Amino acid sequence: MIDRCARTIDYIRISVTDRCNLRCVYCMPEDGVQWIPHNAVLSYEEILRLCRVFAGLGLSKIKLTGGEPLVRLGIDALIADIKAIPGISCVTLTTNGVLLADQLSGLVSAGLDGVNISLDTLDREQFRAITRRDELGRVLAGLNAALDCPGLNVKINCLPMGSNDNQLVPMVALAKDRPLSVRFIEVMPIGLGKDLEYRSEAEVRAILEAHYGPMTPFHGKLGNGPCHYFSLPGFVGKVGFISALSHQFCSECNRVRLTSEGFLKTCLQYELGVDLKALMDEGRDDEFLAQAVQQAIYNKPLQHHFADTSGQQSLEHHGMSQIGG
Ligand code: SAM
Ligand code: SF4
Repeated sequence: MIDRCARTIDYIRISVTDRCNLRCVYCMPEDGVQWIPHNAVLSYEEILRLCRVFAGLGLSKIKLTGGEPLVRLGIDALIADIKAIPGISCVTLTTNGVLLADQLSGLVSAGLDGVNISLDTLDREQFRAITRRDELGRVLAGLNAALDCPGLNVKINCLPMGSNDNQLVPMVALAKDRPLSVRFIEVMPIGLGKDLEYRSEAEVRAILEAHYGPMTPFHGKLGNGPCHYFSLPGFVGKVGFISALSHQFCSECNRVRLTSEGFLKTCLQYELGVDLKALMDEGRDDEFLAQAVQQAIYNKPLQHHFADTSGQQSLEHHGMSQIGG
């Protein structure tokens, strides 16, 4: 689909749950989370129906997210059913990795094309401080299991936030001998991320280059999104940056998001889009849904205004665990 700014929108992130088995400081509070009631969360039948509508409009690449997608039962069956929809070319998953080793064989048999594992540190105490859970061992088991799966595209997403400065060099070392991309994502001022210290791409590069020497821009195509990559001498894998603040990439944005409550969000920053669950609950047919999706995507905002602190913008009030990252 083409939007009013002539951008091709072919990628959708679908949040399958707002629940999670970690409590990352930038994403969820320790207690008192208001869970979305189960009957307000899209059923798998509803997700599949919407995926057929999306595929018909040219949204061919799907990322399942959450909350933590692997805490919802039957994700492997959902992946197999999405993969069977004509027009869907790629289904990937973003996960904190805790349940990955247990579920990987089912996910891969279902046809999973790739997995992004969120991991901010290799230090057990730091991991516990960031995620409020002692689960580093299981995440690393999940990462190793994923790397052992032939043909599975594996990426690590790391948020540099000051407290993990000493881990940026060891995190990149994971890509030395393995075909793995280690990507640094600038913390976005959404939800609890608004109060977090933020490291820019330039700051992370300075830390990495002081240790590894100059990095070379890599111009090949890797993945679906706005990440730009660098090579390091002698490294099999790549280092990537997703720098929404310091290198705004809105003019190349190719994505929309579906929340677990069935709201199609057309820009990460704004509460703009269309409530597709409400339309399904009203009994609307697929053609009506397709027109609603088309209109919402056509009107996708030109750009985010994360740097605007005037309060004039209609900002997003949901947290990342509700939106899906
Ligand atoms: N639980 C899964 C995971 O952690 O990968 C999927 C959902 S999580 C919300 C998706 C991604 O959003 C994670 O990589 C996480 O690091 C990232 N994230 C959460 N809050 C963020 C923020 N304020 N700025 C940038 N990324 C954020
Ligand atoms: Fe859970 Fe992912 Fe949010 Fe961490 S970033 S609390 S793992 S949803």
